[in-house]
Amino acid sequence: MTTEPQATVNDPKREFTLERTRNIGICAHIDAGKTTLTERILFYTGMVHKIGEVHEGTAVTDWMDQERERGITITSAATTCYWPVHQTEGIQKIYDGEKFRVNIIDTPGHVDFTAEVERSLRVLDGAIAVFCGVAGVQPQSETVWRQANKYNVPRIAFVNKMDRTGADFNNAVNDMRVKLGANAWPVLIPLGAEDQLKGQIDVVNQKAILYLDDDAFGSKYDVVDIPDDLKDMAKEALDNLIEAVADVDDEIAEMFLEEKTPSVLELKAGIRRATIAHKLVPVCGGSAFKNKGVQMTIESVIDYLPGPLEVPAAKGVDSHGEEVHAPAGDGGQLCGLAFKLWADKFYGKLVFTRIYSGKLEKGTQVLNPRTGKKERVSRLIQIQADKHEDCDVIYSGDIAGIVGLKDVKTGDTLAIPGYDISLEPPSFPEPVISMAIEPKSKGDREKLSDGLVRLSDEDPTFTVRTDEETGQTIIAGMGELHLDIICDRLKREFGVESNQGAPQIAYRETITADANGEGKLVKQSGGRGQYGHVVISMMPNERGKGITIENKVVGGNIPKDYIPAVKKGLEEGLLNGVINGSQVIDVHVDITDGSYHEVDSSEAAFKMAAIFAVKEVMKKAKPILLEPMMQVEVTTPEEFQGDIMGDLNRRRAKIGEMISKGSDSIIASEVPLSEMFGYVNNLRSMSKGRAAYSMEPSHFEEVPANIVAQITEQK
Ligand code: GDP
Repeated sequence: MTTEPQATVNDPKREFTLERTRNIGICAHIDAGKTTLTERILFYTGMVHKIGEVHEGTAVTDWMDQERERGITITSAATTCYWPVHQTEGIQKIYDGEKFRVNIIDTPGHVDFTAEVERSLRVLDGAIAVFCGVAGVQPQSETVWRQANKYNVPRIAFVNKMDRTGADFNNAVNDMRVKLGANAWPVLIPLGAEDQLKGQIDVVNQKAILYLDDDAFGSKYDVVDIPDDLKDMAKEALDNLIEAVADVDDEIAEMFLEEKTPSVLELKAGIRRATIAHKLVPVCGGSAFKNKGVQMTIESVIDYLPGPLEVPAAKGVDSHGEEVHAPAGDGGQLCGLAFKLWADKFYGKLVFTRIYSGKLEKGTQVLNPRTGKKERVSRLIQIQADKHEDCDVIYSGDIAGIVGLKDVKTGDTLAIPGYDISLEPPSFPEPVISMAIEPKSKGDREKLSDGLVRLSDEDPTFTVRTDEETGQTIIAGMGELHLDIICDRLKREFGVESNQGAPQIAYRETITADANGEGKLVKQSGGRGQYGHVVISMMPNERGKGITIENKVVGGNIPKDYIPAVKKGLEEGLLNGVINGSQVIDVHVDITDGSYHEVDSSEAAFKMAAIFAVKEVMKKAKPILLEPMMQVEVTTPEEFQGDIMGDLNRRRAKIGEMISKGSDSIIASEVPLSEMFGYVNNLRSMSKGRAAYSMEPSHFEEVPANIVAQITEQK
């Protein structure tokens, strides 16, 4: 491992130091109130002057028309805002009086869009997890929480909707502990509940904050003493909080043992250390919609969530496969991650990029190690709610949209030429549903394929391929809604109307044994012929590693210039497997040998030879068919449990954990997606409409032999 020399951390020209920068995400189950919370934050930070309610469909972070229509947040828009930490009498804050830049990435809560969540979690330094005060921790909040664990994102929690009937703050905190295993402790407890919700109790400062209803959207608040009847509860909450921090933080532990009470700032520093170390989750409660508690929650972001210097340096590999790091700092070499592509009306392709080290100046060239190409950055754009601002420089730890890059995909690294680093891209789940698509009018063929390529560059969970046998264009994604939205976007953004076939399971193929063989294209019938000859060996790759190809040809048996064509042929050949033409995954190919002809060889001939080689060798390498497995959780009154389990078994389910909760049973299982069509109706009739279920993609698994036969017969 190489360590970079320590470089200047803050460029003297930057307005907000790295210490005064926060990159946060707001993640939650759909409907918990992310969009409403984001909008309130943008309002209180002065980025928007009018609040557009979500149900009216005007929230600024919901960029896409479809989202407005569907009322869900699909894309993660990166928005920049500024927060001055106000000096407030009676409330001590770590960064009193300082001004911060906060970049917010709105993440979707719908499982069809987990890739969006993954890609934004990858570039965040911290997150606000939003929960509904009535529903507590819902299955999808668990999914998002697990993803945030995977990327080590420190979190604070916001229990929203405390104004609603039945809201229960303690229950939500308890849910976080039990269901998510989070070490959750309240720092801002809702004061009052339901229609009596008035504000928050600041546990650390032991004060009450009352948000005033009389001015615009509760932007003013009073700090008062805690009402007498709540003093004991507040004191107990503080004692519990100190003890909880002492359990996970040495400095506070030492004070605790010496029976010294930490000061407000000492305790806040302890909470900050513990949160950044993933040992504690501070919890705030309130109501975004009723303007109760948002400002103090932003201050908790500043107080407790890390800046770019406080998270581990971005990890990557160099061209020899050695681990390298890109530590935050403007004096370092430029390196950033393109985490989202956006087809913008004004700018064309906008590439949202997180700069990890160094600084990116307008007009400079960046190298993309995936393509080996340099491209010029023509403009740098920062989005501030509904305004776009042109910048000359983006400093380390910041996020902006780049204009001018052509050949770039989500997950690509962008670095200064000469800096040998590829950052770890986010990992994305494989698509599970596919369908055939064709343009309504024959003349739109090219427009359709352009649109599909653009959309698949943007979205790594959306793929496009051509079925070899039928010649049809097949698109695949994470669910029907996902593909629906793709078709909508084709119409709106690319002007192509399309017809789609019925949704099908997106099967995969892989191999289980090593094998080798060759492919040859020889045509010599007068004039210039064609000649390509490729020898390869194939072996199974670890699950999730995808397709990897290595050139091991020595002595120029295949001239270097033809190697890219061979690789292209191999990749193309692997798009259609040998069992039922499904896409092949997790295979390694070595190009070991071949031969060429001085006159007849061409790129096209080598590409064809490589495709032949793939088909030939795959058959020998014990191929298997894989199917998407779904994690299915059914909640049912106990009386129907037997029937539901029997039915799940018939659907080839692997039953996992079963929990009883009151008079309900919760059955966790893994079921092949192919067995889940029509489940809604079935479950409804088995349980007289009283059972409910949730389902999300889990992994791919081998299809049993008898079922493979059925599938291949259908083809
Ligand atoms: P998202 O799907 O997580 O982005 O959630 P939204 O922000 O779109 O909110 C979902 C619905 O809940 C909308 O109708 C909001 O108006 C409503 N909502 C959001 N926050 C609150 C809240 O604090 N209290 C109440 N009563 N409703 C809320």
